[in-house]
Amino acid sequence: MATLDVEWTAERLAAEAERLETAPAEEIVRWAMEQFHPDIVLACSFGAEDVVLLDMMCRVQPGAKAFYLDTGLHFRETYEVRDRIAARYPVELIQVRPELTVEEQVARYGPRLWERDPDACCRMRKVEPLQRVLKGCRAWITGIRREQAPTRARAKPVEWDAKFGLVKFNPLVRWTYKDVWNYIARHDVPYNELHDRGYPSIGCFPCTTPVREGEDPRSGRWRGKGKLECGLHA
Ligand code: SF4
Repeated sequence: MATLDVEWTAERLAAEAERLETAPAEEIVRWAMEQFHPDIVLACSFGAEDVVLLDMMCRVQPGAKAFYLDTGLHFRETYEVRDRIAARYPVELIQVRPELTVEEQVARYGPRLWERDPDACCRMRKVEPLQRVLKGCRAWITGIRREQAPTRARAKPVEWDAKFGLVKFNPLVRWTYKDVWNYIARHDVPYNELHDRGYPSIGCFPCTTPVREGEDPRSGRWRGKGKLECGLHA
């Protein structure tokens, strides 16, 4: 079991979470960068929330770090927004790959593992690579928002991540989907074009479908499989 960073006791984190509960997201990001850069990294899937955070981080800290889990199964549009982000921002973008290529996974576990056992597929292609990249960090930043899913409803602006053993910042916890898009429009932030085509939440192409009017925003992920998270925030 991972232990708390010596400087960041449970009491201190709880007090900071309370203080930051009403703080604007920009202030949470600024404070996080002041405390932890260069040992802090954004988990970036190039979704709407992540590009907002990347914009905020680069405003306060040129050279801020962001990693993306390159499962080898992303949409073309996701790679396109990655390239636009890399061209525009002074960000250190870190590509993190799974141990096995998609072809090697097929050879070892058979075709379309994501249909038969999505948890095993996510573990190999997302969770294990995430564990590797977070090992070198003291804190990470994520784009999770409370309204996204019941699994995220109790997230705090800052908390101890016992699963991965470091401090976790969630600056957008109180934001609505509309808040996210207002920020993107106000700052002209590059975003994944799939958002305009009915994809509020975007993951790997085999496990992501568009969402119909009135559906939960994350209902297009692992549709019909009873799975809500890939294991990064569980
Ligand atoms: S989202 Fe789907 S394809 Fe991507 S790692 Fe998870 S199960 Fe595999």
